[in-house]
Amino acid sequence: MDILQYTAVFLFGLCAGSFLNVVVYRLPRGESLVRPPSHCPACGTRLGALDLVPLLGYMFLRGRCRYCGARISPRYPLVEMATGLLFTAVFSKFGLSLEAAGKLFLLVLLLAISLIDLEHLRVPNGLVLVGLAGGAIWRTLQATGRGIGAAWLEALAGLAVAGGVMLVIYLASRGGMGAGDVKLAALIGFFSGPAGAAVVLFLGFAAGALAGLFQVWRRRSGWKEALPFAPFLSLAALVEVFYGAALWQGYLKLMGW
Ligand SMILES: [Zn+2]
Repeated sequence: MDILQYTAVFLFGLCAGSFLNVVVYRLPRGESLVRPPSHCPACGTRLGALDLVPLLGYMFLRGRCRYCGARISPRYPLVEMATGLLFTAVFSKFGLSLEAAGKLFLLVLLLAISLIDLEHLRVPNGLVLVGLAGGAIWRTLQATGRGIGAAWLEALAGLAVAGGVMLVIYLASRGGMGAGDVKLAALIGFFSGPAGAAVVLFLGFAAGALAGLFQVWRRRSGWKEALPFAPFLSLAALVEVFYGAALWQGYLKLMGW
């Protein structure tokens, strides 16, 4: 890719991040994603086109509403920035390809789901379904390169591995893990395939366990509070997209295969 393509991809990512902010705020509150148009949560004034320009709008307004002066959370520009960087990183690794489009779709969706899980402690079924629908289209388009059987077999095997392992843990933990995490892992497996699913589960649990231990140590309390697990699965999926193949090869070598 040349510099022009990088810039276009980054700007497109900023706009996607701007829409992501709307989804993350409105979906768990049961609001429509399109109506009413964006407004200041403090004073309710409808925002103009200039206020809504990703990143720049926030910078020009110095993080305050132009009409009432209320502070705007820096989370909005940060999410836009993160999405822009995600677009740039995925396309620079996989090129302008179908592969990149599928991975990016998953990662952007996971970003939205993680932010919602952090705030509301739940994984919205609607977004998981959107993910599966997008995944089905992506896997079918892949068929032109390698046959529809191979693409779908990899997807369903990944879904079964990730969903199956999580389901066993879900049943054994009796409420220690949410059903949403099982569905989310199955969705990630659908995109990553079985080897990727193994990498994601391993990394997700390692990160989750570390964070859990840290939480116990910091609060000097027991394992009482539920830790939102979607962000750990999502982080693991992010690492898998970029280093999954290398990690899996390394594991096989370690095992002497
Ligand atoms: Zn306002």
